[in-house]
Amino acid sequence: MTVKGKLSPKLSKSIIEALQKCSQCGKCRSICPTFEYKNIESYNERGRLMLYKAWNNGEIEASPAFIDRVYTCLLCRVCEETCPPKVRYMEIAEAVRGKLAEEGVGPVPEQKQAIEAIKKTGNVFGQESKLNEGDLAEFFTTAPKDADYYFFVGCMAGRNYTNLAKNAILILRKAGLTVGLDPDEKCCAGVAKLQGVESDFSKIAAENVKHIEGLNPKKIFTVCPMCYAALKKEYPWTKHIPIQHITEVYAELLAKKMIKPTRELPAKVVFFDSCHLGRWSGVYDAPRIVLNSIPGLQIIELERTRNLQRCCGGPIRVPYVDFRNEIAGRTLQEVEASGAEYLVTPCGTCLFNLQSVASANFMEDLKIVDISEVLAFSLELIDKIPQYEFE
Ligand code: SF4
Ligand code: SF4
Repeated sequence: MTVKGKLSPKLSKSIIEALQKCSQCGKCRSICPTFEYKNIESYNERGRLMLYKAWNNGEIEASPAFIDRVYTCLLCRVCEETCPPKVRYMEIAEAVRGKLAEEGVGPVPEQKQAIEAIKKTGNVFGQESKLNEGDLAEFFTTAPKDADYYFFVGCMAGRNYTNLAKNAILILRKAGLTVGLDPDEKCCAGVAKLQGVESDFSKIAAENVKHIEGLNPKKIFTVCPMCYAALKKEYPWTKHIPIQHITEVYAELLAKKMIKPTRELPAKVVFFDSCHLGRWSGVYDAPRIVLNSIPGLQIIELERTRNLQRCCGGPIRVPYVDFRNEIAGRTLQEVEASGAEYLVTPCGTCLFNLQSVASANFMEDLKIVDISEVLAFSLELIDKIPQYEFE
């Protein structure tokens, strides 16, 4: 990397103070999934913080190597879990990305493209059609204002993995509840937030808030943990509308005895704590309550579970697919070695990434499934799991 003379700092005073809290103890090193893969200091939190400091001080420039270290970070936040002085890594990383975006050198082109697709089509994959023009058309029977829940479906469950949405609706209907969908739903823009493009995120978030509040929903649920974290933690709501992840809704329905899983699933399963549901949102128990309600099912907890779960690698799949393959591959090997038959996720993106890597590695004996699918099976709403076959 090119060494330059001192320039005025790029980051705010509070971010610089946050950076200075790092004592360089190294506790974050080995837990970082990108360091596990590369075994190079600049691919873990401590190394990245040193680079951010040097760049902020004008000692290095935003070279291709610097950009690589910034954007290969998954923002999985597992490093924050082990950091003794509690360095606010996420805030720092977002600020660095924000400044790089302002300077026109970030995000990387593929990630920029995803943000442009959201702005142009309202969908991260650039799909122009409305939500009621595809697989989910039959579920547009109740308007959000008349329904018990408004379902913010998200890009993944809305288009490519529609069974994630269908199973959730079938389960709520089984409990006697109504679910309203919105054909004009737009992407939550969580991807723009992750890439530090705050201006795009804030604009889309404000538009979504105005639109959703206009629908007058009583309560909102999502199946996607990223949508959940964005809506729950980042959106500038002007009205109070309860927001839940679908696993929290299921846990409530079980507690109220509104659903009762009866069909046995005599199998060992590992639950995969998605970063956005676990570390970002603190939801660890609800999915386990759901799985423990299924007769015959036994949960196996791996060494890296709950707040220490390794990311699926999905956030950097495009363009750093080798990182995704390595990172997901490690988790899959551990799950396979545990003797589990199922790896259950609460997230369409985790499902896609883990499934793709398992498929590429011929792990045909391990079934990677969505939590709603498992519950729908035990409630006798579907006849087989997995509904999604390996690609
Ligand atoms: S957020 Fe995840 S990938 Fe990024 S430095 Fe921390 S542990 Fe590593
Ligand atoms: S664990 Fe925290 S204090 Fe220790 S090196 Fe990592 S970021 Fe710095």
